Amino acid sequence: MGVSVRFIDVALNRPIFSTFTYSLPEELDITPLPGMRVVVPFGKRKEIGYILDVNVTPPSGVEIKEVISLIDERPIIPQDVLKLIRWLAEYYVAPIGEVVSLAVPPLLRELPRQSLKRDFPHVSERLSQFLRSEKVELNEKQKRIAREITSLTTHKVSLIFGVTGSGKTEVYIKIIEEVLDKGKGAILLIPEISLAPQLAGRVMGYFGSVVSVYHSGLSSRERYLEWEKIRGGSSRIVVGTRSAIFSPIAELGVIIVDEEHDYAYKQEDSPRYNARDVAIMRGKIENIPVVLGSATPSLESFTNVKKGKYLYFELKERHLGKAPVVEIVDMRKEVRSTLLNPYLSVTLISAIAKTLEEGKQVILFLNRKGFAKFTICRSCGYISKCPNCSISLTYHKVTARLSCHYCGYHIPPLSTCPSCGGVDIDEVGAGTQMIEDVLASEFPSSRIVRFDRDFARTDKKKSEILGQMKSGEIDILIGTQMVTKGHDFPNVTLVGIILADQLIHFPDFRATERTFQLITQVSGRAGRGFHPGRVIIQTYSPSHISIVSAATGDIDGFVGKELEARRELNYPPYSRLVNIRVSGNVEERVVKAAHKIVSRMKDVCKTGFGEILGPAPAPIRMIRGKIRWQILVKCQSVSQLNKVACFLREELKERSRYGVEISVDVDPISTI
Ligand SMILES: [Zn+2]
Ligand SMILES: [Zn+2]
Repeated sequence: MGVSVRFIDVALNRPIFSTFTYSLPEELDITPLPGMRVVVPFGKRKEIGYILDVNVTPPSGVEIKEVISLIDERPIIPQDVLKLIRWLAEYYVAPIGEVVSLAVPPLLRELPRQSLKRDFPHVSERLSQFLRSEKVELNEKQKRIAREITSLTTHKVSLIFGVTGSGKTEVYIKIIEEVLDKGKGAILLIPEISLAPQLAGRVMGYFGSVVSVYHSGLSSRERYLEWEKIRGGSSRIVVGTRSAIFSPIAELGVIIVDEEHDYAYKQEDSPRYNARDVAIMRGKIENIPVVLGSATPSLESFTNVKKGKYLYFELKERHLGKAPVVEIVDMRKEVRSTLLNPYLSVTLISAIAKTLEEGKQVILFLNRKGFAKFTICRSCGYISKCPNCSISLTYHKVTARLSCHYCGYHIPPLSTCPSCGGVDIDEVGAGTQMIEDVLASEFPSSRIVRFDRDFARTDKKKSEILGQMKSGEIDILIGTQMVTKGHDFPNVTLVGIILADQLIHFPDFRATERTFQLITQVSGRAGRGFHPGRVIIQTYSPSHISIVSAATGDIDGFVGKELEARRELNYPPYSRLVNIRVSGNVEERVVKAAHKIVSRMKDVCKTGFGEILGPAPAPIRMIRGKIRWQILVKCQSVSQLNKVACFLREELKERSRYGVEISVDVDPISTI
């Protein structure tokens, strides 16, 4: 059997952009198929490989080695998922073997030592605290949305814009239930498991044992067991983070992506991909509906609605609590009137005092540390921007320049403000630690806890803090992006945004959108219970569109204006970006290599690639001793993007010719 199959193409879990051809032994009792694992010789070692193609013509002039053994009796990766993987590797310019590995639990990526016992303990017990026989009641609007989506019989993307507390979860549950009744399965993607236990818990509570929760916080063994349950068909619903999109669910009926705008869907290490976009592609391949839900949908998704590509549904009534009252504090005036410190206004301090007196809780939000500082005119709020790219300039100490990290434009640091002539130009930016210290002296008897990646490093620590917050053991929670996610703390009545400018002036073209989303999301944390909520936004730019729109809840107005700005500057969704990062120990070589890539790209792609910005130094110029530069390519269409991707894949196969590290990020979320 199988004697006609002579050569196969195999992907290895290495940062390599090619597959390898191996020959098959004459006698095999199993027919090799794509999606099976094999053991192959690689150099002097044995490695696990994944069969991608059978019956291939071997390349000439190369010694072809023979496969050592076949591991699986049947493919462990479904054919549709293999298709998805191939697309991902090409589109995102990612090493094929690393991409295939995403679809396989870590335990199966290693050479088998002993056979794994196939027992299924209840690995999801950690969420059992939420288990209860849940009843889901839908109002007419929710029912209509669920009905329209479940009546789709082919691939179609639907966007559900539902404000915080409007009941998206009930709609998801209803859709999944209908799909299950038709004998099909479902994937529900969530951005981060520890920050969304309610949603996972409710789905498990409703559907019980047919749910698998799959995320990187599980141990290797737990992941393997959940994956086997999914593959074996005893789990029909997968709730999970990014890599859950590759779950081997047979007869998939729907994919739901909750909080579709969330940047956690983007994997920032190789292989880089956006799980939301991969979800849409899987829906296309399997010809099934995909549902995107968010209280602050991305501009990309709104644009697809406008183009008529997506169906659109709104859930605007908040049936859980009332919308909070939002106040904007103008820090240009406040700073002079407070003696406390430049980061806490009198308004915010007295609001905190009042909230604590009433026995209620406070959440304070700060932008993530690491890139929080920027130079601003304290009198008028002026900040230097690149005239070409319209993003904030970054101060580089080494060169003593303010530079644009998109195009490389630079100026000397300002001594007087070009806008108001003032000289009070200063570097501002506060960290959670600093705010905690100030508050501790101001409110010595209150219980203050920091919630950021330094302090709450593990999932366990995160859950612990969230639990304490829920039970009222914490009075003031100071946090970064992590506090904006969908927690439900009924006793929180005050949310303070310490310095919105840290968001607005983040050197990225998405800074305005991000500010709007974060303020809207964090505001949604106030007044979730029966008590009215209050939100205080401190800023030097009180009339900035992101602040004003978020404060008034005017998402339509915001989307319209921000899309106009994007169109003017030709940023996504009007173009597609590719960020090519070049890094190495010697700056001269890094710069030389970056220029070489640019000139080769011009040679190879001629004119069909769009516009090249840079090379320019990255805002974080050095990480772990490596100097970092980047080249940003603005493509006008997917076909231009594919052309650039194709060029880069070929270049990366011959990376050694550059003598530096090169990484490619397609549709980048972060370019610092
Ligand atoms: Zn620029
Ligand atoms: Zn000024």
